[in-house]
Amino acid sequence: MKVIKHPEEVLKAALISKDTKLVKLYEKFQPNEKRLLNEAFQPESLLFKPITLHSESDWISSHPESTQDFAQFYHDSRRNTPTPQKNRIYVQPIGSFGDSRISTDVYMKWLQDYCEAFFCGLPVKILKPVPVSHTGCAFRVNECTHNLQIHAGHLLNYLKKKKPEDAFCIVGVTMIDLYPKDSWNFVFGQASLTEGMGIFSFARYDSDFYSANYRGVLKTAKKLDPADYTIFDGYYTPEITSKLLLRSCKTLTHEIGHIFGLRHCQWLQCVMQGSNHLEEADRRPLDLCPICLRKLQSVLGFNILGRYKALQRWMEEEENTPEADLSNQASSGLQKPVKAFQQSYDWVAKCLDILQQ
Ligand SMILES: [Zn+2]
Ligand SMILES: [Zn+2]
Repeated sequence: MKVIKHPEEVLKAALISKDTKLVKLYEKFQPNEKRLLNEAFQPESLLFKPITLHSESDWISSHPESTQDFAQFYHDSRRNTPTPQKNRIYVQPIGSFGDSRISTDVYMKWLQDYCEAFFCGLPVKILKPVPVSHTGCAFRVNECTHNLQIHAGHLLNYLKKKKPEDAFCIVGVTMIDLYPKDSWNFVFGQASLTEGMGIFSFARYDSDFYSANYRGVLKTAKKLDPADYTIFDGYYTPEITSKLLLRSCKTLTHEIGHIFGLRHCQWLQCVMQGSNHLEEADRRPLDLCPICLRKLQSVLGFNILGRYKALQRWMEEEENTPEADLSNQASSGLQKPVKAFQQSYDWVAKCLDILQQ
């Protein structure tokens, strides 16, 4: 295992910068906010730890990229910023997310609330779920894994047409596996940062995906008719477990973070770290390091304490209340599964201790 430990001075400059204007801007943070942000360069910090590389297949080893400090982010004229006219994050669910419409709605509400806490101050709207047939995308059965896959680029074309006028960005999410082109095996997601769009699949976040008895394997060998989408009727979707919810929260905020212009984090353990495989994605924390937090804060202008409180509230709200009209039977089993968030919950509590000292 290799540890990427940056010297204190390097982390300090990445966070605060050496540019007098940006230093002055930093001075405007409240003393409690600075106490938390400054944890970035405390060598023994319990909150923000150096990135560790576990194998040659980890992201930083296999995809060398340049770093992005706060100043580089701040001065990047090409990045997208929400405006008063374009300030909403839209999420378009594609295909089913569970056994019924109810689970799709409830799961989407959890993701919506989480993104609203994370991108504090920006409204997140869930568009009405659409069946795969509505998108008109191509689809296939993967030759190796024998599960259904839909064409990521076609879905981006669909989202482009659907993007509302007031959208800062639109992201499509689906439980069906994606492929970018015929010659590729699969892709977790695809995005167009200039267009403010992305499409992401959570199919491979199912703990069973790589097991021999994965229930999304199609037994039929018949040739697919490209115009006949009935194959998607009743197609397997994984159970919404706590781990799946955790993975989807991480993916969604990481990818929307890119649309804001945040590049892969190479400073400290952070949700913006690149990941090359599921084990590495699981290893990265749920939230941002102080350098990435300052980037997002400079765009959204949120109160840092308020943001951590909102994240904590989300992890505490186990009950799902909006579907008050559901019968007891229908609403049972709809508790937000937050068990996998325990470590993140404890971490947020430590941040709040520092912010409220
Ligand atoms: Zn990324
Ligand atoms: Zn970071």
